[in-house]
Amino acid sequence: MPRGDRAWDVETDLLVIGAGAAGMTAALVAALEGLDVILCEKSEMVGGTTATSAGTVWIPGNRQGQLAGRPDTVDAARTYLAGMLGEHATDERLDTFLKLGPIVLDYLEQKTSVRFAAPPVHPDYKQLPGAATGGRALGAVPFDGRKLGDDFVRVRPPRREFMVLGGMMVGKADIPALLAPFRNWTNFRHVAGLLARHALDRISYRRGTRLIMGNALVARLLDSIRRASVGLRFETGLREIIRDGDDVVGAVLASPSGEVAIRARKGVVLATGGIGWSRELRERLFPDAARRFSLAPSSNTGDGILAAERVSAAIERDLDSPALWMPSSVMAQADGHVSVFPHIMLDRAKPGLLAVNKSGCRFVNEADSYHDFVEAMLRSNASASSATPAFLICDHAFIKDFGIGLVHPGTKNLNEFLQANYLIEGETIEALAGNIGVDGDQLGQTVERYNHYAETGVDEDFGRGSSELNRFNGDPQSKPNPCLRRIGPGPYYAVAVWPTDLASSAGLRTDACARVLSRDGNILSGLYAAGTDSSSIFRGTYPGPGTMIGPAIVFGWCAAMDAAGTLPKLMASCDGRTKGEA
Ligand SMILES: Cc1cc2nc3c(=O)[nH]c(=O)nc-3n(C[C@H](O)[C@H](O)[C@H](O)COP(=O)(O)OP(=O)(O)OC[C@H]3O[C@@H](n4cnc5c(N)ncnc54)[C@H](O)[C@@H]3O)c2cc1C
Repeated sequence: MPRGDRAWDVETDLLVIGAGAAGMTAALVAALEGLDVILCEKSEMVGGTTATSAGTVWIPGNRQGQLAGRPDTVDAARTYLAGMLGEHATDERLDTFLKLGPIVLDYLEQKTSVRFAAPPVHPDYKQLPGAATGGRALGAVPFDGRKLGDDFVRVRPPRREFMVLGGMMVGKADIPALLAPFRNWTNFRHVAGLLARHALDRISYRRGTRLIMGNALVARLLDSIRRASVGLRFETGLREIIRDGDDVVGAVLASPSGEVAIRARKGVVLATGGIGWSRELRERLFPDAARRFSLAPSSNTGDGILAAERVSAAIERDLDSPALWMPSSVMAQADGHVSVFPHIMLDRAKPGLLAVNKSGCRFVNEADSYHDFVEAMLRSNASASSATPAFLICDHAFIKDFGIGLVHPGTKNLNEFLQANYLIEGETIEALAGNIGVDGDQLGQTVERYNHYAETGVDEDFGRGSSELNRFNGDPQSKPNPCLRRIGPGPYYAVAVWPTDLASSAGLRTDACARVLSRDGNILSGLYAAGTDSSSIFRGTYPGPGTMIGPAIVFGWCAAMDAAGTLPKLMASCDGRTKGEA
């Protein structure tokens, strides 16, 4: 009985709430393990943040990396994580993740249409013993959206800012050819192929069907979910979790035909994408300076965490950071859309750009990970109000070569960006400083110092260009340092960047089987959480690319296996194997 004398409307074995990486994996695996499954998604599309992400999956010691000639070991990852997490590196969830990660990938590849591949280079984010430069982070193999038929429109599109020509996805590997299509035959063939396919797509579809990155992962999961006959309900959002005594027995959801009470015999999995836009949770958990903008889709509003809290679940707060951060620039478009552009890696690491705080001083190695960039920004602007951004500064040649934020490389007419106040211009450094409200003398000195480092090739202040990650995202043509180049003659430009969350780290406290724990430390029987609804196994640190979706998939799988009753046996055989190997 869900509430008072109201009867259940539907019964199932496992009720999964939220269709991103975590929820789709949980639902798919539960169905493959023979359970009756309902997957409820609040919006009209699957994919959540996952669909708009790069789709990278960090799973140490995987077989796919080995196949690509980039072998990695779990032991090396343990060394690396010990350097990052200290005493917390022995956490049982982390251990489960490391042991089961490669098994989960192989399970999915063997039983579903989900496929992964290892790019040759994709470095971890910290220079610590055990760090990998490739093989540990995998990408989803591109997928042909046409194979989904009518379901193609159900895949959440990527962020609008990351598509070109009205809906063509562009990956990092496409960019060099797109920027110089006539440089050689390979570039030309690649670009011609992309354009021809896209032109064809646009006859029948609203956007391109060549799906890459997070969109490929989600499309592959959707394809597999349909094949496994998971009951998928759109526009059906969690309202309340129902408890009977100590057990969670189902949930009430809002659907287009009214409230629906679903009884779940084997459990409820929360995978609603974490804190997202929840004002209440942002105010409670995020620093003031980082509450304003989120990169989450608008349907992520903290529902899973808040509903679980109402049935006594605990939120983990003892973390390095409550979220993983991204510096993002913001522009109001003519059609009313507000673009929030994540500065992932296309401009920050390139030679000839620097970042300054409200005092006109550099505060960070601009080529480090986005999370480290914002952590430094929050420290540096700590005394300032939430309305204080940092500024990325460059000259005109930089925009021509690399672009900045929403301004694509080679853009000739900058008026649209100048008029929107997205790009701020100054004929001299002093004029630019005046236009962005920082001290002119200080900004002049900062640029002079940076230019000196560009000549010596050594950034004595922040070590820009000194790590594998920096060099990977820099420009190999730039000598002696791929991340440093003299800022030359004016005009000069600035773009304001704000702290935004790309994923929350604070979430529900869970155990190694993805079971939610209550505030008194007991297991809330029948309630699971995975993805960003559960707290980060890396405790709010950011070890490398894919460290959100990797655990989302592994713990979505764990929740399903536990509900199916197979997880304890699997864990035991895994432990046996580890002991036997030792
Ligand atoms: C630009 C960008 C790039 C990123 N790149 C990477 C990357 O390469 N690798 C990586 O590991 N991480 C990356 N991240 C972070 C990563 O995308 C997320 O942490 C991860 O996808 C979250 O997965 P999830 O399944 O927990 O949630 P989501 O993918 O956000 O899915 C949650 C789903 O739940 C639905 N929902 C919400 N409320 C309800 C409700 N009440 N009832 C039913 N459904 C509900 C939502 O509509 C949504 O579909 C990136 C993030 C951004 C913004």
